[in-house]
Amino acid sequence: MIIFSGGTGTPKLLNGLREVIPEEEITVVVNTAEDIWVSGNLITPDIDTVLYLFSGRIDSSRWWGVKGDTYRTHEAMKALGHNEVMMLGDQDRATHIMRSDYLRSGMTLTEATTQLCSSFGVKATVLPMSDDPVSSIVSTPEGKMHFQDFWVGKHGEPEVLDVCQEGIETASISPAVMDALEDEDEVLIGPSNPITSIGPVIELPGMRNILKNKKVIAVSPIIGNEPVSGPAGKLMAARGIEVSSYGVASYYSDFLDLIVIDKRDRIDDNMFIKLGCHVSRADTLMKSANISTNLSIFIKQIFRDMK
Ligand code: GDP
Repeated sequence: MIIFSGGTGTPKLLNGLREVIPEEEITVVVNTAEDIWVSGNLITPDIDTVLYLFSGRIDSSRWWGVKGDTYRTHEAMKALGHNEVMMLGDQDRATHIMRSDYLRSGMTLTEATTQLCSSFGVKATVLPMSDDPVSSIVSTPEGKMHFQDFWVGKHGEPEVLDVCQEGIETASISPAVMDALEDEDEVLIGPSNPITSIGPVIELPGMRNILKNKKVIAVSPIIGNEPVSGPAGKLMAARGIEVSSYGVASYYSDFLDLIVIDKRDRIDDNMFIKLGCHVSRADTLMKSANISTNLSIFIKQIFRDMK
């Protein structure tokens, strides 16, 4: 199974999927449009979270960073007058240093990620969506800013006028992702931010067309009219997409076969008929590993029934 992922909602689901699918059979295509160079190193927040999840290092109270990490380098730099946009842990920074070193030695981001997977003992295949740089840029009344400056630097507070993916028109789906998509029929779009996590992956030139020939299931990151967490609502509204599971399904509608929505969602299931996609309900609020596992079993069964 191929899973499209951001760095919070989908990793929670991956935590359950790896209980019901052999890890070697999981390929995760990860958003890279939140990547940013900080203090000389490339941070790829969503890839890092997926790597830390599979290697048992993730701080699952925040869904980023390494559990029990220390911040000595960050603090030492602060004392020297250097304020980093993100509070990076020391072990986390080691990953960024290694990645950046691999890139400087001429590796692609895919090769660097594969190397890190091997060092961390990750058996799943973790692939950046592209080897080309793409950045989510948020337009606000204060001007345009990188997603990380908006979300981490300004705590997501500025009004959002628009969001775009800089570099997307000229970026290519990575060759490794292309190969994976040729070999695999089942694509799961995890419950990640449709605009800044899934948007960059599906807006890569050619991706929507490829997906039309796949069995595609999405799990909605929205319950009712609110995202479970994060700025998805604000960003969807700025793009003119209704903040609801219907809005999510409409954004994916040209390739989506089925959307899994939360059992508590009051939306009328018949709404989805006009989008040409099926709908199933489950407990999608992954407050525990158990709920993620049950949701994973449910999704695995839907894919089986689609055969
Ligand atoms: P980011 O890369 O950190 O922005 O993370 P993602 O895009 O992967 O995840 C953020 C999205 O996950 C938000 O839109 C949330 O609504 C959604 N999300 C987080 N936890 C859950 C959950 O337990 N269930 C569902 N359905 N969605 C979730």
